[in-house]
Amino acid sequence: MSETQEQVLNIIKAEEMDPKFKYEISKIHGAEKIMLCYQCGTCTADCPVSRFSNFYRPRKIARMIQLGLKDRILSDKDLWLCTTCYTCIDHCPQNVDIAHVVRVLRNLSVKHTNSMPLVFKELANNLMKTGFVYVIPESRHTRRAQIGLPPLPKTKPQEIAKLFEITGFAKLLENVETFGRVE
Ligand code: SF4
Ligand code: SF4
Repeated sequence: MSETQEQVLNIIKAEEMDPKFKYEISKIHGAEKIMLCYQCGTCTADCPVSRFSNFYRPRKIARMIQLGLKDRILSDKDLWLCTTCYTCIDHCPQNVDIAHVVRVLRNLSVKHTNSMPLVFKELANNLMKTGFVYVIPESRHTRRAQIGLPPLPKTKPQEIAKLFEITGFAKLLENVETFGRVE
């Protein structure tokens, strides 16, 4: 069978499977219950992203971890589609914190591929510079005052920058490669 046929059929090869991967993931905070997933599919049925995407399936993510498909899952750009709405956590009969599992995988994915979506890098840079994930224009502050809304809370971006520095996140942001829209 040609390589292209194998890709179309999404065939899993034995050499791709890392039996230790599920145990490594289970040790990370938030992903401890991944082995309890029994593939019922409730998370996928209720996930608002899966409703609109042909690719993103939290149930599939759980299975890929259990099968040890480390390289595949850590290189999968679909990981960045999760909105962290927590619907899957609320509905999972096994209490698998699948949204947290996705967060864990994203962190590992950045290390594995040295890349993240451009929009996430921009949000992190905004947070470091302004204390807000979005840069709030002066006109927005003026408009709030005009309609009698209280000012937005004061932020301490210098403290955030310090945290980013201490944890190495600032350096990571400097060097990480980016990719565009997730398909
Ligand atoms: S709802 Fe829970 S047990 Fe069911 S497939 Fe999703 S993670 Fe696994
Ligand atoms: S947290 Fe992510 S995986 Fe879970 S239901 Fe929401 S979008 Fe889907």
